[in-house]
Amino acid sequence: MTAPLELPLTDVLGGKTAKAFEALKVKTVGDLMLHLPRRYVSGTELSDLNHLTEGEEVTVLARVRQATVLPMRSGRGAGKFRLQAVITDGRGELNLTFFGAKHLVDYWHLQLHVGARGIFAGKVGAFQGQPQLTHPDFVIVDADGNVIGGAQRNLDLGKVAGASGWIGLYPATAKLRTWTIANCVSLALERLEGMADPLPAWLRQEADLIGQPAAYRAIHRPENEEDIRAARHRIQFDEAFGLQLAMARRRALAAADGAVPRPRVSGGLLDAFDARLPFELTKGQQEISAQLFADLAAPHPMQRLLQGEVGSGKTVVALRAMLTVIDNGGQAALLAPTEVLAVQHHRTITAMLGDLAGGDLFSSGEVGTGVTLITGSMPAARRREASLAAASGGAGIVIGTHALLTSGTQFADLGLVVVDEQHRFGVEQRAALAAKAQQRPHTLVMTATPIPRTVAMTVFGDLETSTLTEVPAGRADVSTVVVDYTSHPSWLRRTWQRVIEEVAEGRQAYVVCPRISVESTSGSEEDDAGAAVEDVYAQLTAGPMADLRVEMLHGRLPADQKDDIMSRYVAGQVDVLIATTVIEVGVDVPNASAMVICDADRFGISQLHQLRGRIGRGAHPGICLLLTGTPPDSPAAERLAAVARTRDGFALARVDLEQRREGDVLGAEQSGIRSSLRHIRVLEDEDLITYTRDLATTCLSKDPELTDPGLAGIVDAVEQRAAGDWLERT
Ligand code: ADP
Ligand code: MG
Repeated sequence: MTAPLELPLTDVLGGKTAKAFEALKVKTVGDLMLHLPRRYVSGTELSDLNHLTEGEEVTVLARVRQATVLPMRSGRGAGKFRLQAVITDGRGELNLTFFGAKHLVDYWHLQLHVGARGIFAGKVGAFQGQPQLTHPDFVIVDADGNVIGGAQRNLDLGKVAGASGWIGLYPATAKLRTWTIANCVSLALERLEGMADPLPAWLRQEADLIGQPAAYRAIHRPENEEDIRAARHRIQFDEAFGLQLAMARRRALAAADGAVPRPRVSGGLLDAFDARLPFELTKGQQEISAQLFADLAAPHPMQRLLQGEVGSGKTVVALRAMLTVIDNGGQAALLAPTEVLAVQHHRTITAMLGDLAGGDLFSSGEVGTGVTLITGSMPAARRREASLAAASGGAGIVIGTHALLTSGTQFADLGLVVVDEQHRFGVEQRAALAAKAQQRPHTLVMTATPIPRTVAMTVFGDLETSTLTEVPAGRADVSTVVVDYTSHPSWLRRTWQRVIEEVAEGRQAYVVCPRISVESTSGSEEDDAGAAVEDVYAQLTAGPMADLRVEMLHGRLPADQKDDIMSRYVAGQVDVLIATTVIEVGVDVPNASAMVICDADRFGISQLHQLRGRIGRGAHPGICLLLTGTPPDSPAAERLAAVARTRDGFALARVDLEQRREGDVLGAEQSGIRSSLRHIRVLEDEDLITYTRDLATTCLSKDPELTDPGLAGIVDAVEQRAAGDWLERT
């Protein structure tokens, strides 16, 4: 028998109504139970009719002041009647209009007699300059708020409101008005009779929860505010706990898998590398390295997230893990989100290894390994060579973009997968790469920017987390200034002047633009998409920067040209690089000290933080100028002010989350949990998320196989939803 919550709505409601619910993504009884009232009216409060906006869906509680039935005279209305009513809340007034045959209009008139109090739901329109609701849905309530009448003659009034008169108002559509939803919820609630609670009794007691069926009844038909509070708590708990249990289960399954242990080896490649390292590792780098070595030595796959401040030196930590795997005869793959970043990783890793790095088919008896690059735009012959190096094991380190995931790339013995800047990849890609190893490889995921703790717990909840907070000593300060060029046009000239001064000091600069060329967007000239690389290049090289070595870099250039420009920039042969966000992540040129971001208001907080992370990487103090024409009190201006105020990525990540909704922050490609976050928010519900994570861990340690049918069902539901989301996107 199907569990009550999994019953399709078509089994409970009419097919037409069930279909209408699909627009709300409500397909089962369980979905409907979680379609919660947006607010409640107790039948004793009044709305403010002075603040109605045309086009808005409103629900108002008001008294009928006047009601008149008029015959309709002409045209299509002939033979029909019109009920014209005025309702008031004591402050403002609102017109209501109903049309129909005589018996219908009479029925409405009977309900809406002068003095009756009702709750009216509909879309605010306008008639002769006055706000009006045409054919609103309504119920009539008595002095105690009990429903005693309504617009729909067949509406089961007992089902719309609880005995005490609290009425839930639902997010509705034009086809599904709030009363219809309330009515359907009542029908669905009947199906929950005798339903078992999915949570074991000990857990409910431990977490001090009311039962699930009781929570559903109370949230939809509350008797009082305490009912609502307890029910909401249970529903939020279920969501947070389900997610954490699924993540704990993923962790446990991975941990139960075997992996080839790759313990730290002395006298090998790693030691040779350490001996050549031109700097001391920071304390954090040392601690996390030790953690990674311990993970790699275990007979279970490492599943770790390394997050860190921009420029905190994650690459060298990852590289030391890779070298350990190579010392054990294995290979490491480094997956990068963009070609620019993959090429740069290849370049820096090769440089860091120095004489320890060989070409693709490195196979000398000396200590060393091959480092190879595989990208989509490589010429076929080069790509074949690189693939061969990966497949033969000649390359210990294989760096690449999505090309690594294709069937053309095989490994001799893939022991470690490092995913850089994970926010661009999902679990599926991690899995695709892992599938290229005989046994599940160790996995290290790195994020570009710091993320709030609860985001780490939810989005990356299947991974253990390590955090690098400190930036290597000797890093220079970066001052950030918002340059409002509309109110101070002269500042624009000063901005370019500032860049020229940096170059005169021997430094280099970036100028970042939101798009490549003017033609890349169509539309009116007013509504443009911000400064274009080609434009800014033309202006600067024709004017203030005529004497400097200026180059453009963007995604539309051929790969070898991008590569060439970037190499020359790294070598100090280019003064100013005018680029799109292709330089956003990972690019590392310590001599670069100035950055100008044109139309900075077009970028998000973490993007700006990332971009700014490209400067101040050496000993030279940096300057970051955020050019904008955005109004000072806009959200975009607030973002820029926040970025100017602090370089603390964790603080900025919080601001980012507060301004945007989780879905946007987490990105569509994340671990498939996005749509599970319905009734909790990662910032506000931090305590609940932390608490349920601990509980979920306890549950799995008590019952590693998850034999409890209720708990197993919870995990299945979360995973199915995640898989469903994934399928929908592909
Ligand atoms: P991110 O964490 O942003 O990826 P990178 O790994 O690119 O940062 O490191 C930034 C720069 O800092 C690189 O040039 C790297 O060589 C350098 N670096 C890393 N660790 C140290 C250290 N302990 N001392 C000095 N410089 C370091
Ligand atoms: Mg990096």
